[in-house]
Amino acid sequence: MNTPDAYSMMPEEWKAYILSQGERSFRAPQIYGWLHRDHAFSYGDMTNLPKSLREKLAAELPLHGAKIALAQRSRSDDTVKYLMTLWDGEQIETVLMRYHYGYSLCISSQVGCRMGCRFCASALAGRKRDLTAGEMVSQIYAVEAAEGVTVSHVVVMGCGEPFDNYDELIRFLKLITNPAGKNMSIRNLTVSTCGLTAEMRRFADLDLGVTLAVSLHASNDGIRRQIMPIANRVSMEELLDACRYYTDRTHRRITFEYALIRDVNDGPAQAKELAQRLHGMLAHVNLIPLNPVTERNLKGSDPERVKAFAGILETEHIPVTVRREMGQDIDAACGQLRRRHSQEKKEGEM
Ligand code: SAH
Repeated sequence: MNTPDAYSMMPEEWKAYILSQGERSFRAPQIYGWLHRDHAFSYGDMTNLPKSLREKLAAELPLHGAKIALAQRSRSDDTVKYLMTLWDGEQIETVLMRYHYGYSLCISSQVGCRMGCRFCASALAGRKRDLTAGEMVSQIYAVEAAEGVTVSHVVVMGCGEPFDNYDELIRFLKLITNPAGKNMSIRNLTVSTCGLTAEMRRFADLDLGVTLAVSLHASNDGIRRQIMPIANRVSMEELLDACRYYTDRTHRRITFEYALIRDVNDGPAQAKELAQRLHGMLAHVNLIPLNPVTERNLKGSDPERVKAFAGILETEHIPVTVRREMGQDIDAACGQLRRRHSQEKKEGEM
């Protein structure tokens, strides 16, 4: 295997590489452990490796982990939003949240996004490139090392559409759950998609035990097409069919994400329509008032409207939660920090 991305390599790939270098095979688990368990950020830190091997590794397999460029700490809760720089200078966002059950990290899967959702800041400038699996795991290690915490839950809900970067996503899930490394419980992982149904079905067939979150944000195709271009390719019925396929195959409850946008999708009629469509599904709805993005003329719903919407779903026996809004004071909506930062940079250059 010839990869420039050491963090993406699985234990067996390290073994193949190490043997191809004429080294003893036990070196492979040593290196894998340093990277994925012990937070070594340079080969120089791997003190139990011979110097010659460390030098060879540094020359052949440079460590391209994400590095924290900026941390914004919320004053109202323990949320921290990081701007991270990748080896080629591209930037992504990662968000750390503290819950009663531990630390959860929201990671990015792409630089930018090409799905074009009207309310999302990540989509404003399109997709620059995919992240490698190694760039995904290294977001976790960078935060754990900087904060001295252990991340127990990961949501792939940052910049990007994870199913638009399918192979690297699967590799990431394998890396992060590998017992020789971070050894995270697969049950503590959530992947969020705007609804790429072919990949949702492939993912269902793998039956990994991951929680699937689906960004629905509408009760019918007309509204969904106004705010999510993907709805022009995939109807809600096709999307809900793929969701039913996922729950049939995995017996895992799906989370439907529904951002309430003032006067677009937040009325009682939409709540009733949504309930009707979701009846009988193994699912729950996660309501969140839209985080306003300055560039978009869309506003979040008032708290009364959110409460009324949730109330209708409850009356209709659809399980519903209203997501705690975290980090409101720190540009927590997807892509906002990255966008603001790149604009400041541009203005600085002018
Ligand atoms: N592409 C994936 C994951 C990244 S977006 C997806 O679409 O699910 C993560 C979640 O944040 C999605 O539910 C997305 O619709 C939502 N989101 C994006 N911008 C938002 C905003 N301004 N306010 C509230 N939720 C937003």
